[in-house]
Amino acid sequence: MGLDINRVRNDFPILNQVVHKKPLAYFDNAATTQKPLKVIEIMDRIYMETNSNIHRGVHYLSDLTTTQFEEARKTVRKFINARYDHEIIFTSGTTAGINQVAFCFGEKYVKPGDEIIISEIEHHSNIVPWQMLCERKDAKLCVIPINDLGELVLDEYERLFSSRTRIVAVTHVANSIGTINPVKEMITTAHRYGVPVLVDGAQAVQHTGVDVRDLDADFYVFSGHKMYGPTGIGVLYGKEEILDELPPWQTGGEMVDQVSFEKTTFNKLPFKFEAGTPNYIGGIGLAAAAEYLEETGLDNIKAYEKDLLEYGSKKLSEIEGLHLFGEAGNKISIFSFILDNIHPYDAGMIIDKYGIAVRTGNHCAQPFMERFGIRGTVRASLVFYNTREEIDRLCEAVEKVNQMFN
Ligand code: PMP
Repeated sequence: MGLDINRVRNDFPILNQVVHKKPLAYFDNAATTQKPLKVIEIMDRIYMETNSNIHRGVHYLSDLTTTQFEEARKTVRKFINARYDHEIIFTSGTTAGINQVAFCFGEKYVKPGDEIIISEIEHHSNIVPWQMLCERKDAKLCVIPINDLGELVLDEYERLFSSRTRIVAVTHVANSIGTINPVKEMITTAHRYGVPVLVDGAQAVQHTGVDVRDLDADFYVFSGHKMYGPTGIGVLYGKEEILDELPPWQTGGEMVDQVSFEKTTFNKLPFKFEAGTPNYIGGIGLAAAAEYLEETGLDNIKAYEKDLLEYGSKKLSEIEGLHLFGEAGNKISIFSFILDNIHPYDAGMIIDKYGIAVRTGNHCAQPFMERFGIRGTVRASLVFYNTREEIDRLCEAVEKVNQMFN
C-alpha cells in the first residue's frame, strides 16, 4: 500500500508553516515529534466535553473518562504485545520509568558489591538513575563499550556478567546516532545468566515498533511525546511476576488498598505504581498516537524512513568537511555530524535561518561524545513526515555554512 506522504503531512498541522520566511523542515524528532490531528482532537474533546477525574467516581463523566483511560491501557498493551493490561504502568515518561525501576528493583534486589550493566551509548536518563543506585547501595556500574561504527561490542557484553550482576539496562535505539541495538539477543544472553533486562525504548517504538513478548524484555519504557503523543506521559511495561514482587515507588492516593495510622496495604497492579491522579488525558492521547501509528502502518513507516536514511546518508557524505557519526549496519534515520572547523552550535544557528530545525550539542549522551573525542554534533533526526526535498534543503544549508566559515 505504501505511505501517502501528502495525507501524512496534512495530518500534522504544525508542519505547514513558515519559519524565517522558509517552509519549516522539522528535523528535531528525536527530541520530540509533532502531533497528528487525531491526538490533538481527542485531547481537545475531553477538555471541552467530558473531563472528570477517574476511578471511584459514580457520576456519568467520571465513568466515561475512566473507561476511556482503561481502554487506552488496553490499546498500549496491544501496541507492544504485552500479556496483561495491568503490566502497563502509566508514568510521566521514559526518565520516570527508568528511575522507578532503578528505585524499586534496586531497593529490593541490589546489595553492596552487586553489579549493574549499562552501555556506552545510553542517554543520561539510562545512566544517572543506575549510577545513583550504585552510590546508594555501594554497587558497581559495568559499561558495554561501542566500536567505531557506534555498535555495542557484544563479546565484551558477555564478559561483563558475573555472579554479582543484578540487572542490565540498555537502549533499544540510541538517540545520539540512531544505532538499533540487538536487544533480543542481549536479553537472551542476560537470561542465560538469570539476569533481568530493562530496555529504554524511547527512540524505538515509533520507528521499529516493539513486541515485548517476542523480545522477552523484563521492563520496557518509552515516552508519549516521542511517538507522536502528548508530553508528560509515558509507559513502563514490566512482567507481571516481577512487578508483583517490587515495592511501590511513590505513595499516596490511588495506589493504596486500606489505610490506617497503623498500617497501609497497597492496591493491585497497575495501580500500585500509579500514585495520585494519573495523567489520564495524556494516556488517552498516547493511545490515540499508538492507533495512528498502526493505521499508518509500521511497515510503511519503516520502508519510508529507510529510504530517507539511505538518501540522506549518501547526500550528506558527499559534502566536503562533513563527518557523520554512527554508521551502524542497523540504524534509524538519524544523521549526527560535525563540520570541519565549525562549532555545531554555530552550524545549527545558521541552518535554522533556512527554516530547518536541527538539534546541536551532546544530546544527553556525554559518555558517547567522550568516546569519540568530541563535544557535540549537529543532529538531524527524520521521521515519516519528512521528505527527500527537505534533505536536499539541509544539504544546501550545510554547504552555505561551509562557505561562510571556510
Ligand atoms: N532515553 C532515550 C534513548 C531518549 O532519547 C530520551 C529522550 N531524548 C530519554 C531516554 C528521556 O526521555 P524523556 O525526556 O521523554 O523522559
